Amino acid sequence: MDIFGNTHPKKMPEHFFFGALAVHHQTAVRANVEKQNYSVCPRHWYVDADFNCQRCGRDFTWTAEEQKAWFEDYSFWVDSQPRHCITCRGQIRRLVDLRKEYDATVAAARDRGTLDQKSRIVAIVSELQQAFGKLPEKVTETMGLFQRQVARMAEPGATPNRHPPCPFPSAAEVQPSDSLRTPSSGGCG
Ligand SMILES: [Zn+2]
Repeated sequence: MDIFGNTHPKKMPEHFFFGALAVHHQTAVRANVEKQNYSVCPRHWYVDADFNCQRCGRDFTWTAEEQKAWFEDYSFWVDSQPRHCITCRGQIRRLVDLRKEYDATVAAARDRGTLDQKSRIVAIVSELQQAFGKLPEKVTETMGLFQRQVARMAEPGATPNRHPPCPFPSAAEVQPSDSLRTPSSGGCG
């Protein structure tokens, strides 16, 4: 008697590969259900399955090998499924980390921040902006403020340039001219 597909991968409950474009049963490897995190229905097999990434729209294969790692090494809940390809998963993790770093350091950077801290915040916000397009106004305002402060602090000697080059030519560059000489206007007779 089969219980939840223990005798054959094709008999596994469908919800384990919900939304899959294809399930490649010939790739099935038997799972060690003792190591899985489940309440009623374990996954008896790991099977290569194709999905469509909800972020980049590309198709990807969630491999049997990955599934083994998810459910036996990382103790993911047994019903878990990937919604994103491996590249997008990496990018999403990075963005989450950046957002955490921003939240953890922005206040300190604002109060008594060093040039490095402020530059780091500017870099974080630029990357988040590239990924998400529009960010909350407060975040972009803070970035603008730090950008100006960094630009000012980065100037040599950190003093404003009070003597911009004079746009007018110096006296030496002006050709002496006699055009101003007034012609004598006749004698007095
Ligand atoms: Zn993707």
